Amino acid sequence: MKEMKRIGIFLVLLMSLGVLSGCQTKETSSEELPYARSESSVRKDKTTDRTITTQESYQLATRITISIYDEKEAPNSIFDAIFDLIAGYEDMISRNITDSYVSRINQAAGDAPVSVPDDLFNLIHQGITYADLSQGAFDISIGPLVNLWGIGTYEAKVPESSELEKALSKVDYHKIELDYDTKTVFLNEKDMFLDLGAIAKGYIADEIKALILEKGYTNAIINLGGNVLMVGNKPNSDYWSVGIRDPLSDSGTSLGILELNDNSVVSSGVYERFFEENGVRYHHLINPNTGYPEQNDLLAISIVSDVSVDGDALSTAVFVLGVEKGYELVESLEGVEALFIQSDKDIIVTPGLKSKFRLIDDTYKLVY
Ligand code: AMP
Ligand code: MG
Repeated sequence: MKEMKRIGIFLVLLMSLGVLSGCQTKETSSEELPYARSESSVRKDKTTDRTITTQESYQLATRITISIYDEKEAPNSIFDAIFDLIAGYEDMISRNITDSYVSRINQAAGDAPVSVPDDLFNLIHQGITYADLSQGAFDISIGPLVNLWGIGTYEAKVPESSELEKALSKVDYHKIELDYDTKTVFLNEKDMFLDLGAIAKGYIADEIKALILEKGYTNAIINLGGNVLMVGNKPNSDYWSVGIRDPLSDSGTSLGILELNDNSVVSSGVYERFFEENGVRYHHLINPNTGYPEQNDLLAISIVSDVSVDGDALSTAVFVLGVEKGYELVESLEGVEALFIQSDKDIIVTPGLKSKFRLIDDTYKLVY
């Protein structure tokens, strides 16, 4: 119950701040439920003239917040359906659940193809598409490197170069074999390891949006640990305000606001999971060519897109590509925009975001 109270406090905070992209807070699950889950918080919003019903859970190793805007309170059943949907995907995709389909694929590496549900097959297909598009900066076979670094775990350490070389030799998305007839996935070398952490939340957010629309709701905000997906427009308002997290602040304050409707905003940055050794920050975004956390001019990047799986894959890909190549990639894609936060505190936005981004922290500088 302590957990619920904490979630309640967080909710109040969140509502006073608006929606924040790139925020991530860790909690442990309560004992009573398979995952921590809040009750509904209901409020009448003067600006939107709607009733906002919000529930939170702790799933996918992050805080999930769903807010539905409607004439009246949204029933518990819609939230049950949403959190069950997430739990189903977590059981399918998590590399930490030993009998998930992804774990079965990993255990069968070099040995045998594994037949998987259509959803997962499509997600892996999309992962490979983004790997191609980013020329390998994004690679869903990154698992051996993620395991070796252990970033975000108590075992995190800078690996020996021999270990790095070995892990690097197992990372190559070209060695993921998909059979489109039988819907099987085969990692064609022993010790290969799939990791869908850079793309799964976006995919799941899109599925939640489809479910919310299917149930007849037209306006909502889905927030999966800072990955924000809007359903429709903000009622009676010009836009939703999405806070962009200051990557240099430990308390998760916003450096600016994006004003958007019916969009996805996904951020990747050096603040999410990291450890420090001898003054160097080793974060969780790994360059598949070097095997090291990518050190470039970037602190964080946000991608605005219609579909969240695109934004999620691109946020990771563009971070690893860096400003120049990342900007080029984003500009080559229709309906995708990006915001780059550099370590010199310059912020660069692609043309489509110029009129939509409002800087609130003047220690940063907006450059074009
Ligand atoms: P995100 O927060 O969406 O940028 O995803 C980061 C997560 O994706 C990491 O914690 C790893 O599990 C995984 N990852 C790290 N580097 C890469 C990469 N270059 N390509 C694909 N996935 C990666
Ligand atoms: Mg991502």
